[in-house]
Amino acid sequence: MEKAKTAECPVIWIQCATCTGCSVSALNSVSPSIKNVLIDEVIPGKHVNLRFQATVMAGAGDAVIEEMKETSVREKGKYILVVEGAIPTTDKAADYGSIGEENGEPVSMVERVETLGKDALAVVALGTCAAFGGIAAGKPNPAGCISVGDLFKEKGITTPLVNIPGCPPHPDWFIGTIAKVLLIGLPGPKEVDEYGRPKDFYGQLIHENCPRRAYFDEGKFAKKFSDPGCLNELGCKGPVTHADCPLRLWNGGVNWCIGSGSPCIGCVEPGFPDQLAPFYKKLTEDILPNIGSREEV
Ligand code: SF4
Ligand code: SF4
Repeated sequence: MEKAKTAECPVIWIQCATCTGCSVSALNSVSPSIKNVLIDEVIPGKHVNLRFQATVMAGAGDAVIEEMKETSVREKGKYILVVEGAIPTTDKAADYGSIGEENGEPVSMVERVETLGKDALAVVALGTCAAFGGIAAGKPNPAGCISVGDLFKEKGITTPLVNIPGCPPHPDWFIGTIAKVLLIGLPGPKEVDEYGRPKDFYGQLIHENCPRRAYFDEGKFAKKFSDPGCLNELGCKGPVTHADCPLRLWNGGVNWCIGSGSPCIGCVEPGFPDQLAPFYKKLTEDILPNIGSREEV
């Protein structure tokens, strides 16, 4: 019997103001492995065709920039653009980061996101910097870094955008979202929260599923690191942070932040890091209204 043809999904993945931790996290995907994602069908009949990713591709220089541009023209309206990192937007934006050159001049990251973003089928803002500005946009933000969503609003770009925050994001959040887009299409308004995060992964508070919750309810609080008890007094931001870390765990199910004795620092929230700092200071009533505010599911 003739084998059904595999549909190719072209993906262009660009990196702006980033530490590359989001790439490293995605490469650490356990099930499926990144090899399976890139070589095999990510879901039956669909293959992710990664056309550009500076950290992992073997090529470099003008040849790969041309390939990126050609892909965006050839696959206009059909490719997924992944943006990792926030976007520098000062007058001299290219001084803060560029992706390739045109006629010997560096092309700023903001220009690339704009050009590639408007012609994509969808854009995935991968990591808290791309989704909300994150560390790159933290005070004093000399590069004028902003999120993909804010840039799109400013430029009137209407390409569908999915935010996958996290510092870094869990590989499942990213690969699960891509797989779901290929399987059933872009998430509808009811499938994402008010910050554009898929509810599949960001639909519940850390605090709701935390194994230390019984301590919280009993008023038993750790006074120093390594104590048993709820980590609230050591600065845990679990009560205002939306992610499934306590259920999913990290590193292939080995452990997670609170499981290893560290308070949740709220790395998936729009206010991260400035509004959630100091990380190891108890949440106070005055900062509570500023962070993690959203309609509960
Ligand atoms: S450790 Fe954090 S998330 Fe867990 S119960 Fe305490 S405050 Fe909530
Ligand atoms: S537990 Fe909190 S800080 Fe840790 S990865 Fe999850 S959301 Fe981020």
